[in-house]
Amino acid sequence: MRVFVIGSGAREHALVWKLAQDQRIDRIYAAPGNPGMLPHAECLPISVDNLEGLAAFAERNKIDYTIVGPEVPLIDGVVDIFQKRGLRVFGPNQAGAALEGSKAFTKELLTAAGIPTAQHRTFTEYEPARAYLEEHGAPVVVKADGNAAGKGAIVALDMQTAQDALKQMMVDHAFGAAGDVVVVEDYLQGDEIGAHAICNGTDFLLLPLSQDHKRALDNDQGLNTGGMGAYTPLPFVSEEQKAQIQQRVIGATLQALKERGIHFKGVLYANIMLTERGPMVLEHNTRFGDPEAQALMVLLKAELLDVLAYADGQHIDPETLWHPGYAMSLTLAAGGYPGKYARDLPIQGVDEANQLEGVHVFHAGTRLQNGQLVTAGGRVLSVVAHGETLQQAADCAYAAAKLISFEGMQYRRDIGHRAL
Ligand code: AMP
Repeated sequence: MRVFVIGSGAREHALVWKLAQDQRIDRIYAAPGNPGMLPHAECLPISVDNLEGLAAFAERNKIDYTIVGPEVPLIDGVVDIFQKRGLRVFGPNQAGAALEGSKAFTKELLTAAGIPTAQHRTFTEYEPARAYLEEHGAPVVVKADGNAAGKGAIVALDMQTAQDALKQMMVDHAFGAAGDVVVVEDYLQGDEIGAHAICNGTDFLLLPLSQDHKRALDNDQGLNTGGMGAYTPLPFVSEEQKAQIQQRVIGATLQALKERGIHFKGVLYANIMLTERGPMVLEHNTRFGDPEAQALMVLLKAELLDVLAYADGQHIDPETLWHPGYAMSLTLAAGGYPGKYARDLPIQGVDEANQLEGVHVFHAGTRLQNGQLVTAGGRVLSVVAHGETLQQAADCAYAAAKLISFEGMQYRRDIGHRAL
């Protein structure tokens, strides 16, 4: 079998690593991929926004199955393009990916279906939005409608921040077209968690719950990032909360989509706030989270292909899918990230860290320069460890991180703090 992975981050490296253990797979290709994948996959210089180029490659090379990692090609309709050519691909079509591509669409869908989410208003003009903020008061959350790489939501604890955010989006167009439409929603308090489900249009397979750490600095301080670390499963979520997530969030969302003629196949990754009123949806994503995927892949005992095949109607016993224990991923980031940061800094110690038991180092922003691994992005590496307990997983991930170095390297010291 020939499998093709689209994307170049640590999430995609983790998918490739997991696929490489499957005896049924002869060849793995990745586009554009990263140096960490090279032992397992052939990396191709096709960018993730070259949708026709990706599909043409898959057709020419008789790829049996393609897995789309990042959201942008999904939102742009890569799945529809593959399917038009009769190619098998994992991920939602463009209509389904709108759940991630447009916050206004999702808020309207959730509200109409009575799915718990913060109260909101959608605006297409600056002045009414400004007046609404004034009347609403802080705290409040101001969100650019379109995809803004996870940076389009501003949690404003005071009115000045809220008004500044709105002006940035609608007047200064800081997020481009993504901010032409703005959603203003109530501020929710609670523990924020992630629920991934593999969906087949009607039913779903819930994966272990996870928790990301979005802020750059310890104690959830600093700016929002792509994600500084995650762990799975979550010891503090009750069976009742889990049942509510399954019925009121995931199941209800699939049903609401179906009623609009959208048969959602792929990963639905709900970002949920556990509030006093129960689990409420912050947003929906339509692909694996990064850094959650890295932890999930290390915890996964079954073959990834068999799990993804659920989306095509195949059955799988949910009881036998996972290794016992916990997995934690820790992002090693460039100094200055998520602001300005340097590139091309030599990286040491990856092989040593990889040799620790239960540790896997996935590449996020790296490249090879004359045979030397150097930094090539804000999030550079994702160190993942598996342990019997969460504390063991954390100890192991941090021990591995200590073996790795590059100039300016920074990481959070408190991944998993809500559960430890
Ligand atoms: P989003 O892109 O919608 O997931 O928002 C990014 C981050 O902003 C989330 O991960 C939350 O930490 C925070 N956030 C979003 N919506 C709300 C809300 N209604 N109340 C509190 N925090 C929120």
